[in-house]
Amino acid sequence: MEKLKQSLTYLNENDMKLVKKAFEYASYAHSYQTRVSGAPYMEHLLCVAQNLTELRMDSATIAAALLHDVLEDTLVVEKELIDEFGIEIVSLVTGVTKLNKYQFDDAIAAQANNWRKMLLAVVKDIRVIIIKLADRLHNMRTLKFMPPDKQKIIANESLTLYAPFAHRLGIYNWKDELEDLAFEILNPEQYHHIKAQWDKRSEINMKNLTEVAEQLKVKLQAAKISFRIFARPKTLYGIYKKMERQNKPFSAIEDLFGMRVITDTVEHCYEILSLINSNFKPLEGSFTDYINQPKANMYQSLHITVVSDKNSIVEIQIRTEEMHRRAEFGVAAHWRYKRVADGDIEKGSKKASEEDKLDWLKQFLQGQHENDNDSLEFLDSLKSECNFEQIFVFTPIKQVIKLPLGATALDFAYAIHSDIGDACMGAKVNGKMATISAKLKTGDVCEIITRKNIKPTANWLDFAVSHAARSRIRKFLRENAPSLRA
Ligand code: MN
Repeated sequence: MEKLKQSLTYLNENDMKLVKKAFEYASYAHSYQTRVSGAPYMEHLLCVAQNLTELRMDSATIAAALLHDVLEDTLVVEKELIDEFGIEIVSLVTGVTKLNKYQFDDAIAAQANNWRKMLLAVVKDIRVIIIKLADRLHNMRTLKFMPPDKQKIIANESLTLYAPFAHRLGIYNWKDELEDLAFEILNPEQYHHIKAQWDKRSEINMKNLTEVAEQLKVKLQAAKISFRIFARPKTLYGIYKKMERQNKPFSAIEDLFGMRVITDTVEHCYEILSLINSNFKPLEGSFTDYINQPKANMYQSLHITVVSDKNSIVEIQIRTEEMHRRAEFGVAAHWRYKRVADGDIEKGSKKASEEDKLDWLKQFLQGQHENDNDSLEFLDSLKSECNFEQIFVFTPIKQVIKLPLGATALDFAYAIHSDIGDACMGAKVNGKMATISAKLKTGDVCEIITRKNIKPTANWLDFAVSHAARSRIRKFLRENAPSLRA
């Protein structure tokens, strides 16, 4: 707890009290439990909370992190927890608990993008995903204590589901670490092969990099631009992907390091760029302006790759402190600053903080640029999910079907295939018989029962809400209407 306290200095006294209370409550509830490693259970909870302090998450999130396994692993029931901590924190805890119920398998891996959308819809509050990411990060760091087959499943889920989540939310450090940890478990041969060669070359690469950095420092000081420079190795998984993508051996991969130049203003970013252009040889086509064209997750920087006089190739990223913060904290940075700006962090009236949850996200989503279709689609779905306009329902083989809010079993049938809709007689929802007008909700598993002699009737329009279903039913009615002239 001491260590956690030190990293919580950004919280005020009341917030600290809440965190302490959650810590004590969790310590008591988990007192008889240990991790597979033999470590006391509290250690896991503290590490997860600690991860979240890196993003400077609010006290409700930190408290929920400390309590995140209480409902699943101890005798505490939801009602007691609400009495003790209130609905906001408990809904974060139940959100994380809910996520754990969705078992990962190959069917999910094949449509991971849909799964991520569905999970978001289930949890409704992005903080749940962030807690889950912090939880997963600690579990991945301590995965060696698990049996090998379990390790593979968790690593695979981290790589396919959670690392992309971290990426979309702009939390790059977590994404990188999750990927490398998963890579080592899923493909140990390649991992160690690349790592060994990387280690061999790293010294000389570092030397070249330092040279470039030194040259640049001299120029920047002369131009009186404030800056800090640091080097950053590419992740092993990143290198592996590049080798695969370009079908090249390790020896042909040149930019093993990136260099970051961080400065105070946007103007200085471009000034630094022009200094680089006139003092080094830029690789043709290597310049990307993410300041004017931010990525969908709000990432901003200038990227350029140069060749030094000693022929080493270095990728340089130029950004302001604020852009850097956003690149490190991702969506969390924006959320926090918004709250600070509103003064909500002080005490937070219930209503303000409820609205805020959607508000910060709306702001986050504003002004997106279309340079990354995949992210854009994801953010689109974030938007509609936050309006709670959509639900996600499963087929028996775990396909995810997206439907408008209020959709019924009939809508589901039409979403699968119009012929299935036309012949829809009823459904099994979560294993129980249901009528075709039964309303579905996110997470339901629905199986449609058809009969050959069933035909659409006008009253189906009373409970079909999706566009696809309604237009198909209308078409059928039109085409099969008794002719007036007959
Ligand atoms: Mn956990």
